[in-house]
Amino acid sequence: MNAAHMSAQTLTQLSYLVAAGLFIVGLKRMSSPLTAVSGVHWAGAGMLLATIVTLAFMGASQLNLLLVLAAMLVGGGLAWISGKRVAMTDMPQMIALYNGMGGGAAAAIAAVELYRGSAHSTTHLAIALIGGFIGSVSFSGSLIAFGKLQGLITKAIRFRGQKLVNLAFLVATVAAGAAIVAGMQSGAPVVSAFFLLALALGIAMTLPIGGADMPVVISLYNALTGLAVAFEGFVLDNAAMIIAGTVVGAAGTLLTQLMAKAMNRSLGNVLFSNFGESGAASGAVTGTQKAIEAQDAGVMLAFSQKVIVVPGYGMAVAQAQHKVWELCQLLIEHGVTVRFAIHPVAGRMPGHMNVLLAEAGVPYDLISDLDEINAEFDTADVALIIGANDVVNPDARTNKQSPIYGMPILSADKAKNVIVIKRGQGQGFSGIDNALFVLDQTRMLYGDAQSAAGQLIQAVKAAG
Ligand code: NDP
Repeated sequence: MNAAHMSAQTLTQLSYLVAAGLFIVGLKRMSSPLTAVSGVHWAGAGMLLATIVTLAFMGASQLNLLLVLAAMLVGGGLAWISGKRVAMTDMPQMIALYNGMGGGAAAAIAAVELYRGSAHSTTHLAIALIGGFIGSVSFSGSLIAFGKLQGLITKAIRFRGQKLVNLAFLVATVAAGAAIVAGMQSGAPVVSAFFLLALALGIAMTLPIGGADMPVVISLYNALTGLAVAFEGFVLDNAAMIIAGTVVGAAGTLLTQLMAKAMNRSLGNVLFSNFGESGAASGAVTGTQKAIEAQDAGVMLAFSQKVIVVPGYGMAVAQAQHKVWELCQLLIEHGVTVRFAIHPVAGRMPGHMNVLLAEAGVPYDLISDLDEINAEFDTADVALIIGANDVVNPDARTNKQSPIYGMPILSADKAKNVIVIKRGQGQGFSGIDNALFVLDQTRMLYGDAQSAAGQLIQAVKAAG
């Protein structure tokens, strides 16, 4: 090994270490809405550094370098355009797609190693295989998740003995992998069979899961992609990949757990129970909803001392966050204390409401999460529910028959008055009725969240 080669290697490894540091700082900063945007920039800088260093020192032929640059240009261009265009409500499927690509890329690295037969030890081979397996499952599973969220696959495909078929795919993939590691089989046919079986397993595992559970599944696949990248980092002896993959794997695992917990479900229940697709939920509620006009609701808000706003999926659909904040600013000018209460699974992805409120310019000190705010609802004159449903359903606390029994909810029912903005009698994600909507102190302000917020602004202004 000559000196120039050694110093290139040292420089590469040092740069990977710096890149890994940037990933970790980035991730840490992403944990608070105040620093999240800069966190994305820090992590992005790390990725840029790792990419440049890899390209500069990989010693590829000119043709290969050109191919890599062309692929980066096409991939980067498509990601840039779609990232700019995607609506906030379509973010989960975009994440599914990009996440799938990460898993696919890890599997592709494993495939190159296996087809070439270039592994230098059994451990090396086993690591490539494990990464290839996890990456393939994550790739095909994420694509199915994307199809479901995008409405391309509208039915959950289920049949008797499905779990046995999935088990058979798993056993067959492991058997093919074991045969390769044991050196009994190493030719292209068995390697191809290994990857095809792993891809089939990802598809088969994801098809029966209800579209509504997809965000949790995507988070799980995100963790798996991270793990696959880390394994392939060992194969390529690339420290940046090992650290980035491990960080993504750990963060994805924690997020999956948090989401499942906030929905009061175990991961096994999400993966194997077919919830959210059956429509057979038995959350029937008796009583009638009482409507209110915007003018009366505006007066009620203007003369309140404390209003707690609970945003939900409907606010995201209506893109009502700006109008809602305008209304709240008006109330604050009137001397009303305003707080925002965020449920961890309000909307359709973690942090959905925080992102929208941040975009509208709501100061962070007005925003509280479930644990902080729940004790405050009984001091509120009005709980103003904007397109939220399941996250304020008191049946989750009181009705053992309810499918969402046990899910932690925002205690909006404890407020003196409740005003609910929604378009009609539509149910939420869980497909059940909401006991909050028929309580004595609840009034329904029917309409699209954005136009209803606009009407409330006029009404509060008119109230003086
Ligand atoms: P929900 O899905 O329970 O309810 C949303 C409500 O918004 C509907 O009842 C609908 O009623 C109303 N709505 C829809 N469009 C509009 C509009 N344009 N203007 C006004 N209202 C509208 O939302 P929540 O946020 O309360 O709960 C989130 C649910 O999603 C939970 O069950 C959670 O478990 C689930 N989930 C969340 C994930 C996450 O990561 N955040 C991931 C996976 C699932 P109507 O049709 O009458 O207008």
